[in-house]
Amino acid sequence: MFLAADVTFNPHALPPLVTALAILLLGLIVVLREKGSRESLLYLSYTLAASTWMFCVSVALFLSLSSEEKAYQWMTIANGGVAMIPAALYHFTVVVMQTDNRNRQFIRFAWAVSSVFLVVTLLTDVLFAGLYHYSWGIFVRFRWPSFLFMGYFMAMSVMTLREYWVVYRSSDRNTTRHRRAKAFLIAFSIGYLGALDFLPALGVPYYPLSSIPMICMLVLVSRTIWQHRLVDITPAFAAREIIDTMNEALIVLDLEGVVRLVNQETCSLLGCREKDLIGRRPVDGMTTCRQFAEQLETIAGKGAARNVEAECGPHNGGYRTFNLSASLMKNHRGEPVATVCLVNDITDRKRAEQEREQLISQLQEANEKLQMLDKMKTNFISTVSHELRTPLTTIKAFVELLLLKQAMPHERRVKLMSTVNVETDRLARLITDLLDLSRIEAGSVKWQFALVSMEDIIQSVIESMGVLFENKGLQVTVEFTPRLPPVSGDRDRLVQVVTNILSNAVKFTPRGGVIHVALRRETAQLAVEISDNGIGIPAEHIDLIFEKFHRSDDVLTAATEGTGLGLAITRQIVEYHGGTIRAVSTQGKGSTFTFSLPLAGAGGTVRTDRETA
Ligand code: ADP
Repeated sequence: MFLAADVTFNPHALPPLVTALAILLLGLIVVLREKGSRESLLYLSYTLAASTWMFCVSVALFLSLSSEEKAYQWMTIANGGVAMIPAALYHFTVVVMQTDNRNRQFIRFAWAVSSVFLVVTLLTDVLFAGLYHYSWGIFVRFRWPSFLFMGYFMAMSVMTLREYWVVYRSSDRNTTRHRRAKAFLIAFSIGYLGALDFLPALGVPYYPLSSIPMICMLVLVSRTIWQHRLVDITPAFAAREIIDTMNEALIVLDLEGVVRLVNQETCSLLGCREKDLIGRRPVDGMTTCRQFAEQLETIAGKGAARNVEAECGPHNGGYRTFNLSASLMKNHRGEPVATVCLVNDITDRKRAEQEREQLISQLQEANEKLQMLDKMKTNFISTVSHELRTPLTTIKAFVELLLLKQAMPHERRVKLMSTVNVETDRLARLITDLLDLSRIEAGSVKWQFALVSMEDIIQSVIESMGVLFENKGLQVTVEFTPRLPPVSGDRDRLVQVVTNILSNAVKFTPRGGVIHVALRRETAQLAVEISDNGIGIPAEHIDLIFEKFHRSDDVLTAATEGTGLGLAITRQIVEYHGGTIRAVSTQGKGSTFTFSLPLAGAGGTVRTDRETA
């Protein structure tokens, strides 16, 4: 239908050609600028209709001198374009002015009528009857049914302009909506002047000037779109922008559990590309996050889920923890169509929470320890005061008695003075023990570490205590594993340990009893075991005898001398040597005290002189 050979130059064909191309170009720019929004697509449909009209008129003018038949055909197509303008422009108008909801029926009606006129225009000769010839070229000749179309065109023009007018009048002056309505009202009012081109179709010798109002309209519309855009920030328009800029990963699954939509955050979180995820089940696409993918599968189509935690990894060298919330998306009939999942990486938050909890429990522990220490200190002070006051009270009372009763019989006087003597000894021992203990605890003791033989120490202590054993008629037996290696220790302090335990054995073993001392090797340690068949220690006291001032509350213990500090000092010394001490006992049958010391060079925390000086 178009052959280059048929074209004859006609300057009157140029304005509509330029206008057509400009209109089309504007439509395409708007589509790109508004990123495929409904408004821009509708505007494109209007520009397609309008540019079809202008372009075909132009072609018809080019062909008018050589082939009237073809020119007629192009004129027919041009009117096809005109037929679609009312519906496209009206639809565009109501959508841009956001009145489309209440005009739905009318939009359908307009498209239906325009389509009918398009079909009738293209397939029949009902509307046209050949061409009119004018000095500037040819123009289509309208039959009377064309008046119906012209009526429709005019009515739609009025309807469209009315939409802008209503919004212009009703909206707030300072809003974009108001300014946009005003600008479009002016632009399209001018554009509709192009309808004067109906005149030559009715035989009026009017030169078709539609290009001029169309170009004016084009400029105004471009300016309006440039200044105010076409679209307000509606949820639908903002959705893609929000999806791509949100901090959470978004995953939309269909009811079959297939991934249908993900955002950029999802890809960076899972370390995979969008095309690896879309159209696949999570377990197939999310290979780096197996557990997380399985969680998604279970959630898909099931409804809402809140704060489900799932592991992801190993990925990028570690495991991450994700927090997943999901909701069911429904269509307007309330039927579920998809599961929308929002995912957050909470690894850092979890780690910080764990660290905080750890810190809190450490603080609590330290606080409890401090409270305990404070309590211990209070107890210690009151016990020490009590222990010091008891002998002092006795001494003071007895000395006062001696001073008051000068005429006291000699034997009675000697008895009182020997009690004073015993109590003074007790006081002195108590003060020595207290000082000793506090110096050890404060770390101000000068330890003299050297390689020492426990066998020698035990032998020398037994020898020095020989008289005590004899006085009480106690039998002492020893059992040493031969050639035992030395330990690294402070000889005097270890002598103090053995002496404390042995003197307790002497104190708490009745006349004729047996004390057994054994020395043996236990892997990297030397164990010294001192047992007696004395009064034993009640079960409820066994764990407490190493505490300061603790003594069994039985009559026999009360009758023996003691401060209750000996075993506390003993434990401190043993532990300073890197050893341990324990006691087992059966009341009425006897007790066994065992302490172990690491062997010299056995890799334990054995101290040297230099460290402790
Ligand atoms: P002290 O002997 O000065 O009372 P210690 O600290 O040495 O203080 O001992 C604490 C308590 O442990 C003793 O009062 C006693 O009740 C108990 N005890 C220690 N050794 C023995 C033992 N071999 N047999 C029975 N009880 C003992």
